Amino acid sequence: MTAQEFMDREARYGAHNYHPLPVVLERGEGIYVWDTDGKRYFDFLSAYSAVNQGHCHPKIVKAMTDQAQKLALTSRAFYNNVLGEWEEFVTKYFGYDKVLPMNTGAEADETALKLCRKWAYLKKGIPDGEAKIIVCNGNFHGRTITIVSLSNDPEAYGGYGPFTPGFVKIPYNDIPALAEALKDPNVAGFLVEPIQGEAGVYVPAEGYLKQAYDLCKAHNVLFMADEVQTGIARTGKLLACDHEGVRPDVLILGKAISGGVMPVSCVLADDDIMLCIKPGEHGSTYGGNPIAAKVSIAALEVVRDEHLAENAEALGKVFREKLKQIHSDMVEEVRGKGLLNAVVIKPKNGKTAWDVCLKLRDKGLLAKPTHQHIIRFAPPLIINKMELLEAIGIIENTLAEFE
Ligand code: PLP
Repeated sequence: MTAQEFMDREARYGAHNYHPLPVVLERGEGIYVWDTDGKRYFDFLSAYSAVNQGHCHPKIVKAMTDQAQKLALTSRAFYNNVLGEWEEFVTKYFGYDKVLPMNTGAEADETALKLCRKWAYLKKGIPDGEAKIIVCNGNFHGRTITIVSLSNDPEAYGGYGPFTPGFVKIPYNDIPALAEALKDPNVAGFLVEPIQGEAGVYVPAEGYLKQAYDLCKAHNVLFMADEVQTGIARTGKLLACDHEGVRPDVLILGKAISGGVMPVSCVLADDDIMLCIKPGEHGSTYGGNPIAAKVSIAALEVVRDEHLAENAEALGKVFREKLKQIHSDMVEEVRGKGLLNAVVIKPKNGKTAWDVCLKLRDKGLLAKPTHQHIIRFAPPLIINKMELLEAIGIIENTLAEFE
C-alpha cells in the first residue's frame, strides 16, 4: 500500500477527530521513526511527551513482553503479585503515601477531581455538593465531559454542553486572581499545569507555582498539579514543580510514566487525602494491570538510570540558545523549559506553522503545530548533543527556505 492509501483508509473508516500531519509511520527506535517508504525522521513530538525514554526502549519492551507471557490482566477484583511492587516503587520514587492507578491522562485528572471533592466533604467540611475547584484559562487536561467543562477553548468544549458545574476559571500565571478566588470558603482545590503544554508551552513567571502553593496552603485548599505532560523529566527535573521546590498535595501523572508503550496514568497523594476514596467508589478495569505495573517500573528506572532529567536540562538550554540565534522573520518567540519547547511562528506570504511542519517533515524532522501558530519541539530525552545540533540544523534550513 502507498502512504496515500494508508491515509485514505483511516479517513474512510476512522472518525475524523484528528488532523494528522501527512506521514505514515511504521517503526520507531530511540529518537527516530521510519515511514512506510523507509524514510527516517527525528521524532520531535515524542507522542506528546509520552515517549521520553525513546521509541521501543529495549528494557521497557522486555518488561512488557516478559509480563505479557505470564499474566496480563486480573482486574482489581483479585490481588496480583505485581501491582503492590509498582505501588511501593512509584510512591517511594515520587515521595507519597499512596498511588491510585488509571490508564489515560484524562482519567487521572478525573480521579484527582473526584478525590478533591471527596476530601472537601469528608475533611474540609464543605457542605455536600458545594465544593468548587479553581482551574486556569488555557488549560488542557483531556477530553471527557467534565474536563472540557474546565476549558475555555471553544474547540474543546463547543457543542458538548451541558457542562459539569463546580469550577471557577481564572487567568493562568495570575497570583492576584488566585488570591481573590481563594476567598470563597467552598473552594477545595486548585488544578494547574506547571507549564501549559497544549496551550503552546506557556511557562509561568518564576515563583508562580510556589506562590500559588503557599496561597492554597493558607486557605486549606489542595494544590493539584497536572504533570501528565511536564512530568517524568521532560522539563529538566523529574517534575516541573521541582523547579520551585513545590510538592503538590495531589500529583497527576500519565504519558511517559510508561515510556509510550501502553497507557498508564496515576494520582499520588498522602493518606489523609487518598484514603477519602473508599472501596468500590472509583477504579478502572485495566488500571494497574500487571503489564502496566512492570512497564511503568522499567520506564521510571530508565529515567533515573539514564539521567534523562539532567540531559533535558542541559540540552534544553542548547536548544533555546541556538533557536534564538536563527535569523528568520517567521520566528516570533522561542520559549520552554528543559526539552519542552515551542517556537511561535509569524505567518509569512500566507505560509503558516503547518507549512513549516510539512517542510520539516520533508527534511526529516517531525513536529506538529499547536493552536495554529505555535510549533512544539519535544524530542525523546535520550537525544544527545550531536543529534540535537543536527536537528537544529534541519529547523534552521527549513526556516531559511521561507525567507
Ligand atoms: N493533562 C495534560 C497536561 C495533557 O497534556 C494531556 C494530554 O495531552 C492530558 C492531561 C490528557 O492525557 P490523555 O490524552 O492521556 O487523556
